[in-house]
Amino acid sequence: MNLIHRLITVMFICMSVPLLVSSNTLQAKQTDSIHVLVVFSSNEDQIDEYQRLLELQLAHFSENITFRHSSHVTKSDLSKTTHLVYQGTIDEEIPSNTVKLINSFTGPLLAIGHNIEQLSSYWKIDRDTIYLEEATISNVDDKQLTNRNVELFPFIKEDKKQQTLVKVKKNNNTYPLMVKRNNHFYLATTNLFSPVSHFLADALHFYFSVEHDHVNKAMLRLEDIHPKLIGEDLMEIATYLKNKDIPYLVSVIPVYKNPKTKEEFHLSDNSKLVDVLQFMQNNGGSFVLHGYTDQYGNNPTGDGFEFWDKQHNQPIYFPPNQLEIIKSEKDFADSTEYKKYLEDKKKFETEYIKERIKKGMAELEKVQLYPIAFEAPHYAMSQNGYQVISDYFPFYIGQVQLSDQDWRVMTESPTISNPNFLNGMTLFPETVRYIEYNEPNSLAQIREHITETSIVRDGVISGFYHPFLGKDQLTELVSEFEKQSHIEWIDLQEIYNDAFPNKIKFQQSSDNDKKKAPLNGDTFDSSQSKSALQSTNEVLEEQSVSLTFGDQLRLLKEELYWALFGIGLIVILTFASYRVRK
Ligand SMILES: [Zn+2]
Repeated sequence: MNLIHRLITVMFICMSVPLLVSSNTLQAKQTDSIHVLVVFSSNEDQIDEYQRLLELQLAHFSENITFRHSSHVTKSDLSKTTHLVYQGTIDEEIPSNTVKLINSFTGPLLAIGHNIEQLSSYWKIDRDTIYLEEATISNVDDKQLTNRNVELFPFIKEDKKQQTLVKVKKNNNTYPLMVKRNNHFYLATTNLFSPVSHFLADALHFYFSVEHDHVNKAMLRLEDIHPKLIGEDLMEIATYLKNKDIPYLVSVIPVYKNPKTKEEFHLSDNSKLVDVLQFMQNNGGSFVLHGYTDQYGNNPTGDGFEFWDKQHNQPIYFPPNQLEIIKSEKDFADSTEYKKYLEDKKKFETEYIKERIKKGMAELEKVQLYPIAFEAPHYAMSQNGYQVISDYFPFYIGQVQLSDQDWRVMTESPTISNPNFLNGMTLFPETVRYIEYNEPNSLAQIREHITETSIVRDGVISGFYHPFLGKDQLTELVSEFEKQSHIEWIDLQEIYNDAFPNKIKFQQSSDNDKKKAPLNGDTFDSSQSKSALQSTNEVLEEQSVSLTFGDQLRLLKEELYWALFGIGLIVILTFASYRVRK
C-alpha cells in the first residue's frame, strides 16, 4: 500500500514536471509582455525608412513598439517600457533630459549607431567611421559571412567587461560590431541592411531573452500565375510538390490584360488551369493575390507596377490618363491647403487599391479560389497602401517598401514579423530571390542568400519560382532548400486555419482522394471584409497578442508533445502500480 502511495506520488510529480516546464516555456515565449520604446535621433520628427527598417527586426519579438524622437521623450513614455532602444541615425547632441531618462532606465538597453558616448562613458569609441571591404563577419555561434562590406564605428579596444556578440575581421584586425555589457547592448553601425540585418536578427534573441528554436523555416512561392498559363504544365509542378509533401504559395494575377490589343483574359476563361489551381488549393497550395491585372494604365500584364506610379516614382495619386508629378508644399499658399491636397490624393489611392482588390478577389471567388495573403506587384506599395490591404488580408508576402519617396527603398526582414506599419498583417518575407530566366548564376546567388538567412536561428528561407520555366529547375531549387540541416516548410493554410477557426476551413485531399475537398462555403465576400478583419484581429488578440504565427504553431506543437509525454507516463505508471498490487 505504502509502495502504491509512493508510486502515485511519483506519478503526480512526474506529471507536474512537464506541466511546470511547459508553462515556464510558455512564459519565456510569451512576448506580449514586451514593450519596446525606440528613441531615435534623426533630422525628421516623424519616423522614416530607418525606423521602419529597425521595426521590421524588433517586430519579430513584439507588436508593442513605440517610436519617439529624441527631443520628444517624456517620463510617461518609459512607464510601460520593458526594452529600450536608442537609434542614433545622425550625429547630434541628445537633449540632456532625454539622456537622463534613458540612463534612469534599468531594463535592457540597445544602442545603435551614433551618440552612444553621451549615454555612458564606458563605451570606448573612436569617432571615425570606417568602411571595411571584403571582411568576414561572425557571431558567437561561429556562423559567418565572408567577403562582406561593412560600415562601422570601431571601438578603440576590446574590454574584458564586455562580450562581443558579432565581430568583423579584416586582415589581422578584429572590430566588434555588436557587444554586450551587463544588460546594455551596442550595435556599432547605422546601416541595418544586409549583411548586418542577419546578425542583428539573431543577436536580438539575446537582447529580448527569447529562446526561439534553431530551425529555419522554408517557404516556396509559385509566382505570376495568370490566366494564359497552360494548365498541363502547371499540373506537373503541382504533382511534384504534392508527392514531395511540400506546402507552397500560389501567387495569382486573376486577369491578363493587354491594353494595346484590348485583349483581356479572365481565369474563368481557362477551365483547365482553374482545375489545376483548385487541385493545388487542396494539395498544399495557399493562395496569394498578386494584384488584379499586375499592370497600370496602358502597360501590359506583367509590367508589375499596379500599385505604384513608377514613371514618377510616387504612389498612385492620379488616374492613368492624367499622370502628373505630385505637388510639394511650396506650391500652396499654406500648409493647411497642402495637407488637404495630400488627403485628397490619398483618398484617390485608397479607392483605387480597394477597387482592384475587390475585383481581384471576386475573380478568384468565381472559381472557388480563396486568397489568404497579399503580395504587391514588384513589392511596390505606399504606407497608405498597406493600411488599405490590411482590411482584406491577415498575411503579407515578400519584401516591404520602407519609403513613400522611392519604391527602391525596399527590403525584407530575415524572420516572420508584425511591424505596426503593416497594420496587423504578419509579414512572411521573401529572402532568397528566384531562378532567373537564362541566368546560369541564379542558383549560386540563391545559395548565397540561403547562407545569409541561415545566420538567423529562425530565419525564413523563402524564394519564388516562375512555373513557365518548367519542373526541372524547380527540383534544383527545392534541393537547395533541402540541403539545410533543419528546415520546416511553412504551410500558410494551416497557420490560417489555426489563427482563424471561424473563417474558411482549408482541407487537404488525402493521398487516395485526389478530388478537391469541400470548403465550408464561407468566402471572403469583399462586402464583409471589414468585419472579417475585425473578427480576425479579435481572434488573434485572444490567442496570443504578440506571438508570431510561427511561434504560435511551435507552442501548439510543444504543448502536444508534453501532453503525449504525460499520457505515456500515466500508462506506464498505472501499469507499474497494477503489477505492484499483484
Ligand atoms: Zn526568433
